Amino acid sequence: MDTVILKKENLIGFLKSLNAARLIAPAAKKGTTSFEVIDDLSSVTLDLNDYMASPKKAVFPQTETLFAFKKQNGNLTIAPADRAQATVVFGIRPCDARSFQILDSLFRGDFNDPYYTNRREQTLLIGLACKEPTNRCFCPSLGGSPSSAEGLDMLVTDIGDAYCINVLTDRARSALSQSAPLLAEATKEQRAQKEQADKESLAKIRRHVDLQGMHEKLPRIFEHEIWMELANKCLGCGICTYYCPTCHCFDIQDEGDTSEGRRIRVWDACMFEEFTRHASGVNPRPSRAERLRNRVMHKFTYYPLNLGTIACVGCGRCIELCPVNEDIIEILEKVKAVHE
Ligand code: SF4
Ligand code: SF4
Repeated sequence: MDTVILKKENLIGFLKSLNAARLIAPAAKKGTTSFEVIDDLSSVTLDLNDYMASPKKAVFPQTETLFAFKKQNGNLTIAPADRAQATVVFGIRPCDARSFQILDSLFRGDFNDPYYTNRREQTLLIGLACKEPTNRCFCPSLGGSPSSAEGLDMLVTDIGDAYCINVLTDRARSALSQSAPLLAEATKEQRAQKEQADKESLAKIRRHVDLQGMHEKLPRIFEHEIWMELANKCLGCGICTYYCPTCHCFDIQDEGDTSEGRRIRVWDACMFEEFTRHASGVNPRPSRAERLRNRVMHKFTYYPLNLGTIACVGCGRCIELCPVNEDIIEILEKVKAVHE
């Protein structure tokens, strides 16, 4: 039973049948769609054209407590971080599922980050193939596709009056133990409809970039004036990094006083001036040119060299959301055009 069919009217029943302690799914909020913890299943929306927030907070929250401490009558008590709840993330884009694998290579690589790993192990990923990729998507240039199943436990594809579900892992099979009454084996015709839907969505991708030789070229033009030119209009707001599904810079801060408090981890961004400023006041990346160069080189040179993969999945959110229209594809094209 690896390719099954769910009637659209049974979607809420299906989500209920997964019995997740915590369900995270796209929900309409203040005029946009974002990934939220769902209390009311009717708030789940599958409007993929309006996805701005990435679901990375499911495994890497914007703020998390690493531990809390309290001192009372001379005794110090340390409370560790809460254990992660069993979580289903429903409706994520295939590119976002791939971004979780990219985060894994850092947080579960040479050093195992227990906070991330705990959440990751408790998380089941159910993707939704993109039916209408946006005009900023370029996932095929990064080895993905609107219907990629990489990194997912299940992949849901809209085939008109029903959803076709590819069940990809043993964890997914076990999560479906209560869902059988709502599912039927896919017919040959329905499988063909899914293949057709995949072809149509792939054909709608309009943007592409050839990354051949990119990670070797970037270090060679490290000192080139192009970085100044490219960064001229950047405001340093950090939106591109906060919304990027693969960006993962963080800061550790202590809150409270000597008798009670907590240590927290919060998102940070290499596009902020303070990010690399030393306590001495020296900043090795004093201008936006150095910071933009670092962002590009981190994704397209340092990450592939150190962890074996480009740290971009071609979701295009940074293109969509940048207030001054910095465009990562145009930046890469300009880098390619530099004569050495
Ligand atoms: S979103 Fe645009 S303006 Fe803001 S830091 Fe990123 S590149 Fe600069
Ligand atoms: S760099 Fe831009 S296009 Fe690439 S994954 Fe991050 S937000 Fe998406």
